Order: sequence, then structure tokens, then C-alpha cells
Amino acid sequence: MATLYPFSALVGQDEMKRALLIAAVDPSIGGVLVFGDRGTGKSTAVRALAALLPPMKVVVGCPYNCAPSKTAGLCEICSGRKRKTPARSKDAAVPVVDLPLGATEDRVVGALDLERALTQGVKAFEPGLLARAHRGFLYIDEVNLLEDHLVDLLLDAAASGENVIEREGLSVRHPARFVLVGSGNPEEGELRPQLLDRFGLSVEVRTPTDLAMRVEVVKRRDEFERNPSAFVKKWDKEESGLRRSIVGARTRLSRVEVPNAALERAAQLCMRLGTDGLRGELTLVRAARALASLEGMEQLGDDQLRAVAPSALRHRLRRNPLDDTASSTRVERAVAEMFA
Ligand SMILES: [Zn+2]
Repeated sequence: MATLYPFSALVGQDEMKRALLIAAVDPSIGGVLVFGDRGTGKSTAVRALAALLPPMKVVVGCPYNCAPSKTAGLCEICSGRKRKTPARSKDAAVPVVDLPLGATEDRVVGALDLERALTQGVKAFEPGLLARAHRGFLYIDEVNLLEDHLVDLLLDAAASGENVIEREGLSVRHPARFVLVGSGNPEEGELRPQLLDRFGLSVEVRTPTDLAMRVEVVKRRDEFERNPSAFVKKWDKEESGLRRSIVGARTRLSRVEVPNAALERAAQLCMRLGTDGLRGELTLVRAARALASLEGMEQLGDDQLRAVAPSALRHRLRRNPLDDTASSTRVERAVAEMFA
């Protein structure tokens, strides 16, 4: 396997890195949409993050990578296993599954062999990409060019943590909890506002305009390509530190306190911006809580709300949802007024 560029060595793109870290700490946030220029390291960042995460324990022989320690949210095979015999487990790397634009629905959700079901009475199911992405990341480049019904399916699965396939009275379900990361260029096609709203966070990436930063990007990239293993070794300490903070943040997440004052702040901000529905507020609070946990805080405060507000809200504004600059500016202005 090719050596991956370390996550901590990525220069700049702080908003994207933060959003990915937040999603890694709390996958229920509902995915990250990355809009922006080509060649800004979107796919590199996702792969680097997954590689940074500690390997997962999986049940040997389970096609869905169920966790041996779990008693709920298991596949049909694992939940039917007798409790007395503990499952054999092994380590597996956190998956990053690419969803190509031309993928068929069967390839994405899995295929039920109806003929075998009818002639032999067996439920033959070939798991798809959603099964492979379980407990990991599903990456879609140019998500805005993906057919709407596929995006719908993905967002349904991402929200429910389950993939349900129903064909001719037969049904199969299996766990599919993954972090959906979609990238796209807004100039090449828009996402429907209903779909936009269902992504947890949205971030913008730009080719850096800062001279020093550009120089640093090229310098590190060149150093990495000339000797990948030496480069990885050099960044090993940073990577271990980051890995520890993600693991710690996941454990502490449920204990981070969310005071009423913070909920009120979040609601006020959404009202001021006129976001539709309550999804914006919920995501804002969850993302801020995950960030607080990453920062080792016991309580969610204004700092975290401020930091995540643009990512949680910019794609939910009614007017010009894809006019990035305008939406970002509006969120930033509202944040500045509120937290003045
Ligand atoms: Zn299983």
C-alpha cells in the first residue's frame, strides 16, 4: 500500500481539517461537504484522517465489520449469534470508500439476487459500497454531479445508520454508519437545497493566496514525495498526539456539558440568519460540543459556537445557498454581532 501523507502535515485549510476532525469525533453530525478548487487536498485529507485513526476491532467473518463489543446496531448474522460464544475479532483499518459518479444503485446499496431467492429460497445479498463504508468514510468527488436519487439514498443511510434494501417483498437491512464526505465545485452544478441542508457541515477550500503558505505546501509535498517514509517518521509525534486527542474526545463526548445559555445562543443565531427548520441549530450545537471535547473542555462555550457556526450554517441560508462568499460573510457578520 502506498504511504499516505500525514494529516498533521497538511498546511492551512484549517476549516476543512476541523470539520473532518469533528465528524470523526461525532459521526452523527451528518457528513461534510467540501466546496472549492481542485487540487486543494480534499481527498488527501480524508484518507490521511482515516489512516490516523486507530484500527477498529471487527468480528471475524462478518461482511459488515460489526464491532465485537457492541450488543446493538449489529447485522443480522452477528445479532443472531449466541451470546455464550464470544465473537472472534481482528483489527481492521478504518475504511475510506470512494463512490464513483457512474455507480449503479445496486453497487451502492448492494444487490439482492431475486432469482436465487425465488428458485432456491435463499436470501442472497451482495453487499455494496455502503456496507464497505460502515464505521469509516464514504468519499464522493463531485457530489453535485451525482444523481439526486443516489444522493437521497446516501443521506438516508447516513442519517439512520442503516441501509435497507427492499425488492419484490424481500428485504435486507444492515448497519451502515459512515461519515459522508462530498466534494464539489459549485460552478459545475448545484445541489438541491433540500440535499444541502442534510449535510452536517460545509466548508470552503481555496488555493492559498498567502505566499509563505504556498511555499510551505510545495516544500512539504516535495519532501514527502522524495522520501515518504522519512517524512512520515518526522511527523510521527504530531500524528500520535492528534490520534490521542481524537480517541480522548470520543470518550469524553457524552460528558461535555451543554448549558442552556449555549442552546439559546445557537437558537438566536439561527433566528437572526433565518435558517429553515431546526437542523441548523442541532448541528451547530453538536459540532460545537465535539469541538469542545477535542479541546479538552468540560463545557460547551461561546468560543466553540463561534468557531463552528460558519461550517454548520452557511449552506442553510435561504438566499444563494451556493454563493459561498456571500453566505459566509452573512454568518460571520451575525456571529460578530451576537458575540460582540
Ligand atoms: Zn455483523
